[in-house]
Amino acid sequence: QDVRALVESNLATIPDFPEPGVLFRDLTPVFADGPAFHALSEALVEPFAGRFDVLAGVEARGFLLAGAASALCGAGLLPIRKAGKLPRRVLREEYALEYGTAALEVHEGELAPGTRVLIVDDVLATGGTVAAAARLVERAGWRVAGVSVAIELVDLGGRAALDDGHETFSLLQY
Ligand code: IMP
Repeated sequence: QDVRALVESNLATIPDFPEPGVLFRDLTPVFADGPAFHALSEALVEPFAGRFDVLAGVEARGFLLAGAASALCGAGLLPIRKAGKLPRRVLREEYALEYGTAALEVHEGELAPGTRVLIVDDVLATGGTVAAAARLVERAGWRVAGVSVAIELVDLGGRAALDDGHETFSLLQY
């Protein structure tokens, strides 16, 4: 079965979550289905084969996809964490939320300079999250190999927000 069809058939779509007017795409049934989770994890890295060293997962759902994909392809894993979780010296990037800001962090020096990092997340919406992740990777002295997401919410313009020209792959577009 085609990967897109397999993932899409397991995807849940919830109206008015977490607030009225939002159509929430929920990947938990995909994670719960072995073949769908396996196929999705493989599909996220396939377009970048041979062009990355490490997968970076954005907390929290990006961890699941990047973790599974890194085990499948034998690449290392960089957790890009919400602020305040990492114990050693960090780099921090803030990004805008609908109300207020949030921040992502990585350990300084976690990877060798020039390491090629493929950033993975579940959903690309406005792009603020993965743009902050990409800035962190670059400030740390590593290279962004690309951005790979399961779902792109096209109307929210995330691809354009990643205006540094990072190659972006999404399996499904809505
Ligand atoms: P952005 O920063 O606006 O691109 O939002 C992307 C972040 O919000 C990702 O880390 C997603 O996990 C989360 N997100 C936004 N919309 C959805 C959705 O419909 N389903 C699941 N997560 C979402």
